[in-house]
Amino acid sequence: MTKTKIWLSSPHMGGEEESFVGEAFETNWIAPLGPHVNGFEEDLQAFTGAGHAAALSSGTAALHLGLILLDVKPGDIVLCQSMTFSASANPIAYQGAIPVFIDSEEETWNMCPRALEDAILAINERKLSYDHPSPTHKIKAILPVHLYGMPAKMEDINAVADKYGIPVLEDAAEALGSRYKGGSCGNLADLGVLSFNGNKIITTSGGGALLSDDETMISKARFLATQARDPAPHYQHSHIGYNYRLSNVLAGIGRGQMKVISDRVNARRKNYERYRRFFSEIEGIYFQEPVDDSVYFSNRWLSTIGIDPARTGGISRETVRLALEAENIEARPLWKPMHLQPVFAKAAFVGNGVCERLFEQGLCLPSGSNLTESDFRRIFTCLHSVFYS
Ligand SMILES: *Cc1c(COP(=O)(O)O)cnc(C)c1O
Repeated sequence: MTKTKIWLSSPHMGGEEESFVGEAFETNWIAPLGPHVNGFEEDLQAFTGAGHAAALSSGTAALHLGLILLDVKPGDIVLCQSMTFSASANPIAYQGAIPVFIDSEEETWNMCPRALEDAILAINERKLSYDHPSPTHKIKAILPVHLYGMPAKMEDINAVADKYGIPVLEDAAEALGSRYKGGSCGNLADLGVLSFNGNKIITTSGGGALLSDDETMISKARFLATQARDPAPHYQHSHIGYNYRLSNVLAGIGRGQMKVISDRVNARRKNYERYRRFFSEIEGIYFQEPVDDSVYFSNRWLSTIGIDPARTGGISRETVRLALEAENIEARPLWKPMHLQPVFAKAAFVGNGVCERLFEQGLCLPSGSNLTESDFRRIFTCLHSVFYS
């Protein structure tokens, strides 16, 4: 008999979602606007402290609009964290702009501030070559990511950004509920992006948001996301628009999910603590764990480990992943860095290979907020047999 699958991260409804969705049906607000869209935006603002929020159809759409708002045009450069999901980098290509990929640092596994400054200097001194017919050599945005919920070193990244006058678009798709130095991820830079895709810490099945304290930016985002309609009785357009707004039906799911966001963060952090305890006695396992963990409050969207086979007696990331797979338990390597992806093979990369090692050694463990005690028994029985046999 095959055992039921244990997922890496699966949707976890709180209970009130259906009544919000029902209300959308009863009032016939079945459209990419309506009271739930406004209500969800208010919930996000209250939770993150961001002055303004635009609810959108996906995190990818939010990243795309963010780059447009920062005036990223063909031939411009965007400095993007290399170790991330492809959705961070694809919108750079949508704009015909040039990604320059930046290495990670060892503590948070996110954008290394030193490699970031090295990249800026190399670009300013014309020492990088790009796979692009007409580079403008203008750096229009810095795009750090809070991987698996762990806040990037935003103070240092923002300091480099200020020094060179470059705006920061923060990819907080995985980090709703994470905090850094008292501020909420998504609200630590000029613009922030959230995602509510099915596997994220809360979900609307699909959705995203753009956050900012700058009201002009967010109203412009809403305008562009609804086909850029000028104020006129007929359809009048002076800009290229997009159909990127969130549906009122899905925003209803979001409002239900926002009622339980704190529970979800607590549950995921508890998962991490369980894994941390198990692995603390095993040589060669390391974590995404900055020295000062009171500064970096991670939602632990996914619990991740690094496995150094030189110190585990040859047990590698793949040994563990395949053992879990054989038990029908999903685990996944960390994000493959963008500069190693065939589609970005010709893009420039600045760093010394930290993210390449993390990719080779890193594993994401089952992390849903709905994992049961019996799921954990299966997971730890399997891990025990790998490390203690
Ligand atoms: C999920 C994710 C996105 C994209 O969000 P969607 O809502 O799926 O479009 C972007 N960046 C990162 C780091 C993500 O994990």
